Amino acid sequence: ASYKRIAQTDEAIRAFLTLNEEGARASAVELDKQLQEGGERGLLFGLPAGIKDNIVTEGLLTTCASQFLSNYDPIYDAAVVKKLKAAQTVTIGKLNMDEFAMGGSNENSSFFPARNPWNTDYVPGGSSGGSAASVASGQVYFSLGSDTGGSIRQPAAYCGIVGLKPTYGLVSRFGLVAFASSLDQIGPLTKNVEDSAYVLQAIAGYDPMDSTSANVEIPDYVSALSGDVKGLRIGVPKEYLGQGIDPKVKEAVLAALQQFESLGATWEEVSLPHTEYAVATYYLLASSEASSNLARFDGVRYGVRADNPDNLIDLYRKSRSQGFGDEVKRRIMLGTYALSSGYYDAYYLKAQKVRTLIKQDFDNVFEKFDLIIGPTAPTTAFRIGEQVGDPLTMYLNDICTIPVSLAGVPAISVPCGFADGLPVGLQIIGRAFDERTVLRAAHAFE
Ligand code: GLN
Repeated sequence: ASYKRIAQTDEAIRAFLTLNEEGARASAVELDKQLQEGGERGLLFGLPAGIKDNIVTEGLLTTCASQFLSNYDPIYDAAVVKKLKAAQTVTIGKLNMDEFAMGGSNENSSFFPARNPWNTDYVPGGSSGGSAASVASGQVYFSLGSDTGGSIRQPAAYCGIVGLKPTYGLVSRFGLVAFASSLDQIGPLTKNVEDSAYVLQAIAGYDPMDSTSANVEIPDYVSALSGDVKGLRIGVPKEYLGQGIDPKVKEAVLAALQQFESLGATWEEVSLPHTEYAVATYYLLASSEASSNLARFDGVRYGVRADNPDNLIDLYRKSRSQGFGDEVKRRIMLGTYALSSGYYDAYYLKAQKVRTLIKQDFDNVFEKFDLIIGPTAPTTAFRIGEQVGDPLTMYLNDICTIPVSLAGVPAISVPCGFADGLPVGLQIIGRAFDERTVLRAAHAFE
Protein backbone atom coordinates (compact mmCIF):
# COMPACT_ATOMS: atom_id res chain seq x y z
CA ALA A 1 0.00 0.00 0.00
CA SER A 2 2.86 2.33 0.83
CA TYR A 3 4.56 1.87 -2.54
CA LYS A 4 1.25 2.21 -4.34
CA ARG A 5 0.64 5.50 -2.56
CA ILE A 6 4.16 6.65 -3.39
CA ALA A 7 3.62 5.78 -7.06
CA GLN A 8 0.41 7.86 -7.04
CA THR A 9 1.74 10.89 -5.20
CA ASP A 10 5.49 11.22 -5.24
CA GLU A 11 5.83 12.71 -8.68
CA ALA A 12 4.14 15.77 -7.19
CA ILE A 13 5.47 15.60 -3.60
CA ARG A 14 9.06 14.44 -4.23
CA ALA A 15 9.51 13.26 -0.65
CA PHE A 16 11.71 10.28 -1.47
CA LEU A 17 15.32 10.18 -2.60
CA THR A 18 15.77 6.39 -2.47
CA LEU A 19 13.20 3.61 -2.31
CA ASN A 20 13.86 0.29 -0.63
CA GLU A 21 11.13 -1.73 -2.32
CA GLU A 22 12.95 -5.04 -2.59
CA GLY A 23 14.41 -4.76 0.90
CA ALA A 24 11.04 -3.77 2.36
CA ARG A 25 9.28 -6.74 0.75
CA ALA A 26 11.98 -9.09 2.02
CA SER A 27 11.71 -7.76 5.58
CA ALA A 28 7.90 -7.93 5.48
CA VAL A 29 8.12 -11.58 4.41
CA GLU A 30 10.66 -12.23 7.16
CA LEU A 31 8.44 -10.57 9.82
CA ASP A 32 5.51 -12.65 8.67
CA LYS A 33 7.57 -15.80 8.88
CA GLN A 34 8.72 -14.99 12.41
CA LEU A 35 5.11 -14.46 13.42
CA GLN A 36 4.01 -17.78 11.85
CA GLU A 37 6.74 -19.48 13.82
CA GLY A 38 5.24 -18.18 17.04
CA GLY A 39 7.45 -15.10 17.48
CA GLU A 40 6.06 -12.10 19.35
CA ARG A 41 5.03 -8.90 17.63
CA GLY A 42 7.47 -6.04 18.09
CA LEU A 43 6.22 -2.67 19.37
CA LEU A 44 5.87 -1.25 15.84
CA PHE A 45 5.23 -4.53 14.05
CA GLY A 46 5.00 -4.17 10.30
CA LEU A 47 4.68 -0.38 10.21
CA PRO A 48 6.04 1.26 7.04
CA ALA A 49 8.66 3.83 8.05
CA GLY A 50 10.50 6.55 6.14
CA ILE A 51 13.98 7.60 7.25
CA LYS A 52 15.53 11.04 6.73
CA ASP A 53 18.49 10.74 4.42
CA ASN A 54 21.06 11.87 6.99
CA ILE A 55 20.47 8.74 9.10
CA VAL A 56 22.70 5.92 7.90
CA THR A 57 21.13 2.72 6.68
CA GLU A 58 23.19 -0.34 5.87
CA GLY A 59 23.13 -1.11 2.16
CA LEU A 60 20.77 1.79 1.40
CA LEU A 61 22.16 5.05 0.00
CA THR A 62 22.49 7.87 2.54
CA THR A 63 23.10 11.08 0.63
CA CYS A 64 22.16 13.90 3.05
CA ALA A 65 20.66 15.33 -0.17
CA SER A 66 24.21 16.33 -1.13
CA GLN A 67 26.11 15.72 -4.34
CA PHE A 68 29.08 14.94 -2.11
CA LEU A 69 27.42 11.81 -0.72
CA SER A 70 25.38 10.93 -3.80
CA ASN A 71 27.15 7.53 -3.94
CA TYR A 72 27.52 6.86 -0.20
CA ASP A 73 26.39 3.34 0.66
CA PRO A 74 26.82 2.88 4.45
CA ILE A 75 28.17 -0.35 5.90
CA TYR A 76 26.20 -0.03 9.14
CA ASP A 77 22.85 1.04 10.57
CA ALA A 78 22.38 4.07 12.80
CA ALA A 79 21.38 3.20 16.38
CA VAL A 80 17.82 4.40 15.72
CA VAL A 81 17.55 2.24 12.59
CA LYS A 82 18.66 -0.79 14.60
CA LYS A 83 16.05 0.06 17.22
CA LEU A 84 13.31 0.42 14.60
CA LYS A 85 14.30 -2.94 13.14
CA ALA A 86 14.11 -4.46 16.63
CA ALA A 87 10.61 -2.96 16.93
CA GLN A 88 9.86 -4.65 13.55
CA THR A 89 9.16 -1.71 11.31
CA VAL A 90 9.69 -1.91 7.55
CA THR A 91 12.00 0.69 5.97
CA ILE A 92 10.24 2.08 2.91
CA GLY A 93 13.00 4.45 1.80
CA LYS A 94 15.11 7.53 2.42
CA LEU A 95 13.58 10.97 2.62
CA ASN A 96 14.44 14.27 1.02
CA MET A 97 15.90 17.10 3.10
CA ASP A 98 17.94 20.28 2.93
CA GLU A 99 21.56 19.40 2.17
CA PHE A 100 23.24 18.24 5.41
CA ALA A 101 20.08 19.45 7.24
CA MET A 102 20.98 23.09 6.60
CA GLY A 103 17.81 24.92 5.75
CA GLY A 104 14.18 25.33 6.57
CA SER A 105 12.37 24.81 3.27
CA ASN A 106 13.86 21.79 1.50
CA GLU A 107 15.00 24.10 -1.28
CA ASN A 108 18.61 23.36 -0.30
CA SER A 109 18.26 19.73 -1.38
CA SER A 110 20.87 19.32 -4.11
CA PHE A 111 18.51 16.99 -6.01
CA PHE A 112 15.04 18.61 -6.01
CA PRO A 113 12.85 20.20 -3.35
CA ALA A 114 10.09 18.20 -1.69
CA ARG A 115 6.70 19.93 -1.80
CA ASN A 116 3.92 20.62 0.65
CA PRO A 117 1.07 18.09 0.22
CA TRP A 118 -1.55 20.75 1.13
CA ASN A 119 -0.45 22.85 -1.84
CA THR A 120 2.48 21.78 -3.98
CA ASP A 121 3.41 25.40 -4.81
CA TYR A 122 4.44 25.74 -1.16
CA VAL A 123 7.47 24.45 0.74
CA PRO A 124 6.97 21.54 3.14
CA GLY A 125 9.44 23.20 5.54
CA GLY A 126 12.79 21.81 6.47
CA SER A 127 15.18 20.46 6.86
CA SER A 128 13.11 17.28 7.43
CA GLY A 129 10.68 18.35 4.68
CA GLY A 130 10.59 14.95 3.00
CA SER A 131 9.93 13.30 6.37
CA ALA A 132 6.94 15.59 6.99
CA ALA A 133 5.54 15.50 3.45
CA SER A 134 5.67 11.69 3.27
CA VAL A 135 3.64 11.31 6.47
CA ALA A 136 1.20 14.09 5.56
CA SER A 137 0.53 12.53 2.16
CA GLY A 138 0.02 9.03 3.56
CA GLN A 139 3.05 7.45 1.90
CA VAL A 140 4.42 6.04 5.16
CA TYR A 141 2.91 5.46 8.58
CA PHE A 142 5.59 7.53 10.30
CA SER A 143 9.05 8.87 9.64
CA LEU A 144 12.21 9.87 11.45
CA GLY A 145 13.68 13.32 11.12
CA SER A 146 16.46 15.26 12.80
CA ASP A 147 16.14 18.59 14.53
CA THR A 148 19.07 20.94 15.12
CA GLY A 149 17.21 24.25 15.29
CA GLY A 150 13.66 23.28 14.34
CA SER A 151 13.97 20.76 11.55
CA ILE A 152 11.39 18.31 12.89
CA ARG A 153 8.94 20.77 14.44
CA GLN A 154 8.77 23.39 11.67
CA PRO A 155 8.09 20.98 8.76
CA ALA A 156 5.57 19.13 10.97
CA ALA A 157 3.81 22.48 11.50
CA TYR A 158 3.88 23.40 7.79
CA CYS A 159 2.52 19.97 6.79
CA GLY A 160 -0.15 19.68 9.51
CA ILE A 161 1.29 16.68 11.36
CA VAL A 162 2.95 15.95 14.72
CA GLY A 163 6.72 16.35 15.13
CA LEU A 164 8.65 15.72 18.34
CA LYS A 165 12.15 16.90 19.18
CA PRO A 166 13.18 14.91 22.23
CA THR A 167 15.45 16.21 25.00
CA TYR A 168 19.05 16.46 23.81
CA GLY A 169 20.70 13.13 24.64
CA LEU A 170 17.52 11.04 24.91
CA VAL A 171 17.87 9.45 21.46
CA SER A 172 21.23 8.20 20.20
CA ARG A 173 22.92 10.23 17.46
CA PHE A 174 25.16 7.30 16.49
CA GLY A 175 24.81 7.05 12.72
CA LEU A 176 23.23 10.48 12.29
CA VAL A 177 25.47 12.45 9.92
CA ALA A 178 26.55 15.27 12.23
CA PHE A 179 25.55 18.87 11.49
CA ALA A 180 25.89 20.62 14.88
CA SER A 181 26.61 17.94 17.46
CA SER A 182 25.61 19.92 20.55
CA LEU A 183 22.14 20.47 19.09
CA ASP A 184 21.32 17.54 16.77
CA GLN A 185 18.54 15.24 17.94
CA ILE A 186 16.51 12.57 16.12
CA GLY A 187 12.75 12.34 16.59
CA PRO A 188 9.48 11.04 15.12
CA LEU A 189 7.08 12.67 12.65
CA THR A 190 3.65 11.11 12.95
CA LYS A 191 -0.02 11.63 12.18
CA ASN A 192 -0.99 11.90 15.83
CA VAL A 193 0.45 12.14 19.34
CA GLU A 194 -0.16 8.52 20.29
CA ASP A 195 1.98 7.36 17.36
CA SER A 196 4.65 9.84 18.46
CA ALA A 197 4.72 8.27 21.94
CA TYR A 198 5.04 4.78 20.46
CA VAL A 199 7.89 5.70 18.12
CA LEU A 200 9.71 7.59 20.88
CA GLN A 201 9.36 4.50 23.09
CA ALA A 202 11.08 2.47 20.39
CA ILE A 203 14.01 4.83 19.72
CA ALA A 204 14.82 6.41 23.12
CA GLY A 205 17.54 5.07 25.37
CA TYR A 206 21.18 5.14 26.40
CA ASP A 207 23.80 4.25 23.81
CA PRO A 208 27.50 3.97 24.71
CA MET A 209 28.31 4.66 21.03
CA ASP A 210 27.12 8.27 21.46
CA SER A 211 29.23 10.14 24.01
CA THR A 212 26.41 12.64 24.63
CA SER A 213 23.76 9.98 25.15
CA ALA A 214 22.01 10.41 28.50
CA ASN A 215 22.03 7.45 30.84
CA VAL A 216 18.51 7.92 32.15
CA GLU A 217 15.68 5.53 32.80
CA ILE A 218 13.17 5.48 29.94
CA PRO A 219 9.62 5.90 31.24
CA ASP A 220 6.48 4.57 29.60
CA TYR A 221 5.41 7.31 27.20
CA VAL A 222 2.18 5.74 25.98
CA SER A 223 0.70 5.47 29.48
CA ALA A 224 1.24 9.22 29.92
CA LEU A 225 -1.60 9.90 27.47
CA SER A 226 -4.34 10.14 30.08
CA GLY A 227 -6.30 12.95 28.47
CA ASP A 228 -6.07 14.89 31.74
CA VAL A 229 -4.38 18.29 31.87
CA LYS A 230 -6.21 19.67 34.90
CA GLY A 231 -3.99 21.90 36.99
CA LEU A 232 -1.16 22.09 34.44
CA ARG A 233 0.52 25.49 34.55
CA ILE A 234 1.40 26.89 31.13
CA GLY A 235 3.72 29.82 30.49
CA VAL A 236 3.23 31.72 27.23
CA PRO A 237 6.32 33.73 26.25
CA LYS A 238 5.39 37.22 25.10
CA GLU A 239 8.40 37.10 22.77
CA TYR A 240 6.72 34.27 20.80
CA LEU A 241 3.55 36.25 20.11
CA GLY A 242 5.02 39.65 19.39
CA GLN A 243 6.60 41.27 16.37
CA GLY A 244 7.02 39.16 13.25
CA ILE A 245 4.32 36.66 14.18
CA ASP A 246 1.54 36.42 11.61
CA PRO A 247 -1.72 37.62 13.29
CA LYS A 248 -3.56 34.55 12.00
CA VAL A 249 -0.98 32.28 13.58
CA LYS A 250 -1.32 34.21 16.82
CA GLU A 251 -5.09 33.85 16.68
CA ALA A 252 -4.81 30.06 16.26
CA VAL A 253 -2.41 29.85 19.22
CA LEU A 254 -4.71 31.93 21.45
CA ALA A 255 -7.63 29.69 20.50
CA ALA A 256 -5.52 26.67 21.46
CA LEU A 257 -4.75 28.24 24.84
CA GLN A 258 -8.47 28.74 25.38
CA GLN A 259 -8.97 25.07 24.71
CA PHE A 260 -6.34 24.23 27.34
CA GLU A 261 -8.17 26.48 29.77
CA SER A 262 -11.44 24.71 29.11
CA LEU A 263 -9.65 21.42 29.83
CA GLY A 264 -8.63 22.71 33.25
CA ALA A 265 -5.11 24.00 32.65
CA THR A 266 -4.10 27.58 33.41
CA TRP A 267 -1.88 29.92 31.44
CA GLU A 268 -0.05 33.15 32.02
CA GLU A 269 2.18 35.38 29.99
CA VAL A 270 5.89 34.91 30.78
CA SER A 271 9.14 36.24 29.36
CA LEU A 272 12.16 34.53 27.82
CA PRO A 273 14.14 37.78 27.68
CA HIS A 274 17.13 36.55 25.64
CA THR A 275 14.99 35.28 22.75
CA GLU A 276 16.11 38.16 20.52
CA TYR A 277 19.69 36.83 20.58
CA ALA A 278 18.79 33.21 19.87
CA VAL A 279 18.98 33.23 16.07
CA ALA A 280 22.38 34.94 16.01
CA THR A 281 23.68 32.65 18.74
CA TYR A 282 22.43 29.57 16.91
CA TYR A 283 23.92 30.52 13.55
CA LEU A 284 27.33 31.14 15.12
CA LEU A 285 27.36 27.92 17.14
CA ALA A 286 25.70 25.64 14.58
CA SER A 287 27.93 26.94 11.78
CA SER A 288 31.05 26.57 13.93
CA GLU A 289 30.21 22.98 14.75
CA ALA A 290 29.28 22.31 11.13
CA SER A 291 32.58 23.68 9.85
CA SER A 292 34.38 21.23 12.10
CA ASN A 293 32.07 18.25 11.45
CA LEU A 294 32.16 18.71 7.70
CA ALA A 295 35.97 18.73 7.60
CA ARG A 296 35.75 14.94 7.24
CA PHE A 297 34.38 15.32 3.71
CA ASP A 298 37.67 15.59 1.86
CA GLY A 299 37.19 13.42 -1.20
CA VAL A 300 39.22 10.65 0.41
CA ARG A 301 37.10 9.08 3.11
CA TYR A 302 33.51 9.34 1.95
CA GLY A 303 31.50 10.11 -1.11
CA VAL A 304 32.47 11.60 -4.42
CA ARG A 305 36.10 12.38 -5.31
CA ALA A 306 36.95 15.08 -7.86
CA ASP A 307 38.71 13.93 -11.03
CA ASN A 308 42.24 14.89 -12.06
CA PRO A 309 43.53 16.79 -9.03
CA ASP A 310 47.01 18.32 -9.32
CA ASN A 311 47.98 17.27 -5.79
CA LEU A 312 46.43 16.37 -2.42
CA ILE A 313 45.38 19.90 -1.46
CA ASP A 314 43.87 20.33 -4.90
CA LEU A 315 41.94 17.07 -4.38
CA TYR A 316 40.42 18.45 -1.17
CA ARG A 317 39.69 21.80 -2.76
CA LYS A 318 38.09 20.40 -5.92
CA SER A 319 36.09 17.72 -4.11
CA ARG A 320 34.70 20.22 -1.60
CA SER A 321 34.03 22.91 -4.23
CA GLN A 322 32.13 20.46 -6.40
CA GLY A 323 30.50 18.41 -3.64
CA PHE A 324 28.97 21.06 -1.37
CA GLY A 325 26.12 23.39 -2.29
CA ASP A 326 25.98 27.14 -1.62
CA GLU A 327 24.27 27.07 1.78
CA VAL A 328 26.69 24.46 3.12
CA LYS A 329 29.65 26.53 1.91
CA ARG A 330 28.16 29.66 3.48
CA ARG A 331 27.97 27.92 6.86
CA ILE A 332 31.44 26.39 6.61
CA MET A 333 32.87 29.84 5.89
CA LEU A 334 30.92 31.51 8.70
CA GLY A 335 31.87 28.78 11.17
CA THR A 336 35.54 28.72 10.19
CA TYR A 337 35.64 32.49 10.63
CA ALA A 338 33.93 32.37 14.05
CA LEU A 339 36.38 29.72 15.27
CA SER A 340 39.54 31.36 13.92
CA SER A 341 42.06 32.50 16.55
CA GLY A 342 41.48 36.24 16.18
CA TYR A 343 37.68 35.98 16.41
CA TYR A 344 37.03 33.00 18.67
CA ASP A 345 36.54 35.10 21.82
CA ALA A 346 34.40 37.71 20.12
CA TYR A 347 32.07 35.28 18.36
CA TYR A 348 32.20 31.63 19.39
CA LEU A 349 32.90 32.16 23.10
CA LYS A 350 30.40 35.00 23.30
CA ALA A 351 27.75 32.86 21.63
CA GLN A 352 28.39 30.05 24.14
CA LYS A 353 27.81 32.50 26.98
CA VAL A 354 24.58 33.75 25.45
CA ARG A 355 23.49 30.14 25.02
CA THR A 356 23.80 29.74 28.80
CA LEU A 357 21.62 32.82 29.34
CA ILE A 358 19.00 31.41 26.97
CA LYS A 359 19.00 28.11 28.85
CA GLN A 360 18.60 30.01 32.14
CA ASP A 361 15.55 31.81 30.71
CA PHE A 362 13.90 28.39 30.33
CA ASP A 363 15.05 27.21 33.78
CA ASN A 364 13.49 30.29 35.35
CA VAL A 365 10.11 29.79 33.68
CA PHE A 366 10.11 26.07 34.47
CA GLU A 367 10.46 26.85 38.17
CA LYS A 368 6.84 28.01 38.13
CA PHE A 369 5.34 26.41 35.03
CA ASP A 370 5.04 22.84 33.75
CA LEU A 371 5.00 23.73 30.07
CA ILE A 372 5.76 26.60 27.73
CA ILE A 373 3.43 27.03 24.77
CA GLY A 374 3.57 29.19 21.67
CA PRO A 375 3.61 28.91 17.90
CA THR A 376 6.04 26.51 16.20
CA ALA A 377 6.78 29.01 13.45
CA PRO A 378 5.87 32.67 12.95
CA THR A 379 4.01 31.98 9.69
CA THR A 380 2.49 29.12 7.75
CA ALA A 381 4.39 27.57 4.82
CA PHE A 382 5.60 30.00 2.15
CA ARG A 383 5.78 29.65 -1.61
CA ILE A 384 8.65 27.75 -3.19
CA GLY A 385 11.19 30.32 -4.36
CA GLU A 386 9.77 33.14 -2.23
CA GLN A 387 12.68 33.27 0.26
CA VAL A 388 15.57 31.46 -1.44
CA GLY A 389 17.45 34.64 -2.27
CA ASP A 390 17.28 35.92 1.29
CA PRO A 391 19.02 33.69 3.85
CA LEU A 392 18.39 36.11 6.74
CA THR A 393 14.61 36.03 6.31
CA MET A 394 14.86 32.25 6.01
CA TYR A 395 16.86 32.07 9.25
CA LEU A 396 14.20 34.08 11.11
CA ASN A 397 11.58 31.40 10.40
CA ASP A 398 13.20 29.45 13.24
CA ILE A 399 12.84 32.14 15.88
CA CYS A 400 10.43 30.02 17.98
CA THR A 401 12.22 26.68 17.63
CA ILE A 402 15.90 27.68 17.93
CA PRO A 403 15.81 28.81 21.60
CA VAL A 404 14.38 25.42 22.56
CA SER A 405 17.23 23.66 20.73
CA LEU A 406 19.83 25.85 22.45
CA ALA A 407 18.28 24.98 25.83
CA GLY A 408 18.23 21.27 24.94
CA VAL A 409 14.67 20.75 26.19
CA PRO A 410 11.93 18.68 24.48
CA ALA A 411 9.17 20.17 22.31
CA ILE A 412 6.41 18.89 20.11
CA SER A 413 4.52 20.57 17.28
CA VAL A 414 0.85 19.65 16.97
CA PRO A 415 -1.62 20.98 14.40
CA CYS A 416 -3.79 23.83 15.73
CA GLY A 417 -5.95 24.90 12.83
CA PHE A 418 -5.40 26.63 9.52
CA ALA A 419 -4.55 30.06 8.22
CA ASP A 420 -5.36 30.77 4.56
CA GLY A 421 -5.78 27.07 3.89
CA LEU A 422 -2.41 26.04 5.31
CA PRO A 423 -1.79 24.28 8.64
CA VAL A 424 -0.62 26.11 11.78
CA GLY A 425 1.55 24.35 14.38
CA LEU A 426 1.35 24.73 18.15
CA GLN A 427 4.63 24.21 20.00
CA ILE A 428 4.49 22.60 23.44
CA ILE A 429 7.81 22.78 25.29
CA GLY A 430 8.69 20.86 28.45
CA ARG A 431 11.40 20.42 31.06
CA ALA A 432 14.42 18.30 30.15
CA PHE A 433 13.44 14.59 30.02
CA ASP A 434 9.80 15.40 30.77
CA GLU A 435 8.49 14.12 27.43
CA ARG A 436 5.62 12.53 29.33
CA THR A 437 4.07 15.88 30.22
CA VAL A 438 4.69 17.25 26.73
CA LEU A 439 3.00 14.24 25.14
CA ARG A 440 0.16 14.25 27.66
CA ALA A 441 -0.69 17.88 26.94
CA ALA A 442 -0.37 17.45 23.18
CA HIS A 443 -2.59 14.38 23.24
CA ALA A 444 -5.28 16.04 25.37
CA PHE A 445 -5.26 19.01 22.99
CA GLU A 446 -5.29 17.33 19.55
N1 GLN B 1 16.54 25.90 9.63
C1 GLN B 1 17.59 25.73 10.58
C2 GLN B 1 18.93 25.75 9.88
O1 GLN B 1 18.92 26.00 8.72
C3 GLN B 1 17.42 24.46 11.35
C4 GLN B 1 17.88 23.25 10.63
C5 GLN B 1 17.82 22.01 11.44
O2 GLN B 1 17.18 21.95 12.49
N2 GLN B 1 18.50 21.01 10.95
O3 GLN B 1 19.96 25.52 10.44
